Amino acid sequence: MPDTLPSWSLADLYSSASDDNMTRDMADCRDRASALASTWKSRLHEADAASLAGVIEDYQAISETLGRLSSFADLAFAADMSEAETGRMAQSMRELESEISAQLVFVELEIARIDDDHMDALMQSDALASWSPWLRIVRAWRKHQLSDELETMLIERSPSGRAAWVRLFDETAASLRFPIDGQDVAESEIMDMMTDPDPEVRRKAGLSRSEVLDKNSRLMALILNTIAKDKSVDDRWRGFSRPVSARNLANDVEDEVVDALAHSVTSRMPDLTHRYYALKASWMGVDKLNWWDRNAPLPGEDPRQFSWDEARKMVLTAFDEFDPGMAEVAGWFFDRNWIDAPHRPGKASGAFSHPTVPSAHPYILMNYSGKVNDVMTLAHELGHGVHQVLAGPKGHLMSSTPLTLAETASVFGEMLVFRRLLDSTTDPVQRRALLAGKIEDMLNTVVRQIGFHNFEERFHDARQKGEQTPDAIADIWMETQADALGPAIRIDETYRPIWGFIPHFVHVPFYVYAYAFGDCLVNALWQVYSTAEGDARKDFVLNYLDLLRAGGTRRHDEALAPFGLDARDASFWSLGLDMLSGMIDELEAELVQAGLVETAHGE
Ligand SMILES: [Zn+2]
Repeated sequence: MPDTLPSWSLADLYSSASDDNMTRDMADCRDRASALASTWKSRLHEADAASLAGVIEDYQAISETLGRLSSFADLAFAADMSEAETGRMAQSMRELESEISAQLVFVELEIARIDDDHMDALMQSDALASWSPWLRIVRAWRKHQLSDELETMLIERSPSGRAAWVRLFDETAASLRFPIDGQDVAESEIMDMMTDPDPEVRRKAGLSRSEVLDKNSRLMALILNTIAKDKSVDDRWRGFSRPVSARNLANDVEDEVVDALAHSVTSRMPDLTHRYYALKASWMGVDKLNWWDRNAPLPGEDPRQFSWDEARKMVLTAFDEFDPGMAEVAGWFFDRNWIDAPHRPGKASGAFSHPTVPSAHPYILMNYSGKVNDVMTLAHELGHGVHQVLAGPKGHLMSSTPLTLAETASVFGEMLVFRRLLDSTTDPVQRRALLAGKIEDMLNTVVRQIGFHNFEERFHDARQKGEQTPDAIADIWMETQADALGPAIRIDETYRPIWGFIPHFVHVPFYVYAYAFGDCLVNALWQVYSTAEGDARKDFVLNYLDLLRAGGTRRHDEALAPFGLDARDASFWSLGLDMLSGMIDELEAELVQAGLVETAHGE
């Protein structure tokens, strides 16, 4: 990189780890939490509207201070994980957090327990009305809550129950070593090798992964079976009708909407993944791709390097074309040192935009090396960042969105920059690489995750009938993945044990569909935006910014209504999938025109 990359300054949170304000804020959190608990614990049902609003304000203020402390600790740790002091600070903030949340857990539990008639009466007051989006979410669990005694027992027993199985999974996964040419390597290296340009390296990595997972499949099957059984007991006590239902409630979305998404994506798999992988195989000069070649680099990578200044200009120009106000907010991240971009030893890998707290501002961490992908990552994180800034005025409790809307601004921001970059790229090799890269990302987010979701649905249903052997689990895996990948990907016996290392299946059952939900939702929005003209386009921009400012106060149906969209409708999901299919058409046409594939593979 020719130019220098910016490093963030965390001084807007605290001046340093020895800042006296940190000690003061920690003591303040403890004092206020104790005072709130001693005044109101077991008494919230007696509170009148004004007192209840006061309790919520206090609760928010304590949570925000706690959020400032833990954000500082987390960010300092991410910037340098090798420093013992930042590790110690992050750990002590986690302990403070669990101490305070144990003390204040009564607030949400008791609010959820207030009976509906009494709550309706309280909500007549203006003081409480402004909290109604938050109250709705807190009270959504009302029907599924158990008695205080049972809830307490479940929390206390968790470390020796579910949490212990998750830990066993994590520790086992971290300890696995994969033999490659007489050496033992860790899983992250194996994953890197699977995107190596050399097919022999990819083959060895795939086979080694398969072999090691196969040897561990009995343990992994026991863990997955236990997690599913534990969940089904919980679901039965709490009155959830299907294995997926509790997760849907946490995501603030109805079962039918998730079913419509899964069904739409599954029915379009031939037109999406099957068609794309056939195209990729033909482009790479083979009939079929082995499963370990699925993410193989394409012939002719986009070799362009972008300096930090070029990346900044590209993102800000694309945002500015959409709306100058959006570019202005994004500009603050560069002008005010809210981004940490360079690679450094000890720094966390990957990228994120941490919202911290509304009384401060978000911070972005990334590892910039100047590739096209890095520019897209910058656009993605700045999309999150702008969203977090705009939603800030909703306050700490209501600024963050439900999971279904969490990726809206990031994926949309990325799309603005991607389209601009593609339009300004004339070199056919670069265009093909750009398009194919974007398509692969989207297929991995949308189709692959729904393939995983279909596996989870079938596995949890089967588990209700009894324990599943590793072989039975592998059968479900192979059937669902064959559907998701299509005939151009060769999956043989060696693919059977690969289910064993999808951490989400263990960490948070039914989490994966949220990725597809978010991406498809943005793609549908993008279709509306890109086909709107004149006043309709202006309206779109206003509605979009309004959606970002709403933070967590709107659920998906309220958020989408101004755009004339409805996620309960199957045609909504088709709209987003049409966009993805259209991009595959674009790539196919360019490949055929360049004589790189023989004919179009339309099915
Ligand atoms: Zn994101």
